[in-house]
Amino acid sequence: MQSFTYEKAVSVEKATGNAGKFIAGGTTLVDLMKMGVEEPTALVDISGLPLAQIEVLPNGGLLIGAMVRNSDLAHHPAVMAQYAVLSEALLSGASPQLRNMATTGGNLLQRTRCPYFRDPSAGGCNKRIPGSGCSAIEGHHRMMAILGTSDKCIATHPSDMCVALTALEAVIHIQGVKGTRTVAIGDFYKLPGDTPHVENALEPGDLITHVELPPAAKGGKQVYLKLRDRASYEFALSSAAVVAVVEGGHFKSVRVVMGGVGTRPWRSHEAEAALKGKAANAANLRAAAEAALKGAKPLPENGFKVELAKRCVTRALKMATA
Ligand SMILES: Cc1cc2nc3c(=O)[nH]c(=O)nc-3n(C[C@H](O)[C@H](O)[C@H](O)COP(=O)(O)OP(=O)(O)OC[C@H]3O[C@@H](n4cnc5c(N)ncnc54)[C@H](O)[C@@H]3O)c2cc1C
Repeated sequence: MQSFTYEKAVSVEKATGNAGKFIAGGTTLVDLMKMGVEEPTALVDISGLPLAQIEVLPNGGLLIGAMVRNSDLAHHPAVMAQYAVLSEALLSGASPQLRNMATTGGNLLQRTRCPYFRDPSAGGCNKRIPGSGCSAIEGHHRMMAILGTSDKCIATHPSDMCVALTALEAVIHIQGVKGTRTVAIGDFYKLPGDTPHVENALEPGDLITHVELPPAAKGGKQVYLKLRDRASYEFALSSAAVVAVVEGGHFKSVRVVMGGVGTRPWRSHEAEAALKGKAANAANLRAAAEAALKGAKPLPENGFKVELAKRCVTRALKMATA
């Protein structure tokens, strides 16, 4: 591992703009440093910053500090009561020990689990070294994305939490060198296109300070369903977050977001349009799932994900409307 300096951030303002890399729980970053994928020369530890609170806002929404640990967020009474999809998504991720360390900000910025990204000896990866190629396209890609891919990158976005946050239309608060700003989570993650190494809307030195959740819809149902190779401690092959309001057996509103199949948390406006105002019956739920996967571009090893994701979306919708 390359040597680096270490300092503890003393304030949000002073931490911002630092040329080093922020370290929060360290559960992603330290692994990647040991593997030689990330090689920061300076680490700025933000764990002492006053960003570990969860605040209920006057409008009924929630303001979550970037240093709030995944387990604290999952078990917070307001999250369990109003944002069950978030609690379920968090508790489906990693292991209890990891969730005790992992933070909200770090989870938003976790990197792909693509083996060619994580192993510098495995071949080219445009995300790790721009212009070096995508070894996954011709190599092993069973876990890789089928939505939002490009001929430069097919890496899957790995987070469960971010799928739920997208369904909740979360807003990310950022402190940059020029001041504070907010970015809707739907605009935060970039498609790989020709620049897979540009993953999100952050500028160098930007610090995520909070994540804001709008008030939960009254009478809404929320579900997070995760399908994976083993029942725990495993990333999603396919997952679905559904936030729906059903009245008189018909969808008044619905949001459908998929995980494990997209290069970013994959909101399906197609599925939502297919359901809006429609009866919550089996035929309409399956039709929405068909619409959600219409643009899928599978490769030989991950073609199974198309039908798996359709069934995942259908089942999550069924659970949310039962
Ligand atoms: C074995 C294993 C299994 C896992 N399984 C799952 C799973 O099933 N589902 C899932 O969703 N996740 C899973 N994870 C990933 C886990 O959720 C992440 O490692 C964790 O959320 C990262 O949070 P952290 O605080 O440790 O981030 P760190 O490792 O500290 O940081 C990650 C990145 O975020 C940056 N960063 C952190 N905080 C901020 C901030 N406030 N502002 C700006 N930049 C910041 C850091 O510079 C770094 O680049 C797994 C991880 C491991 C190791």
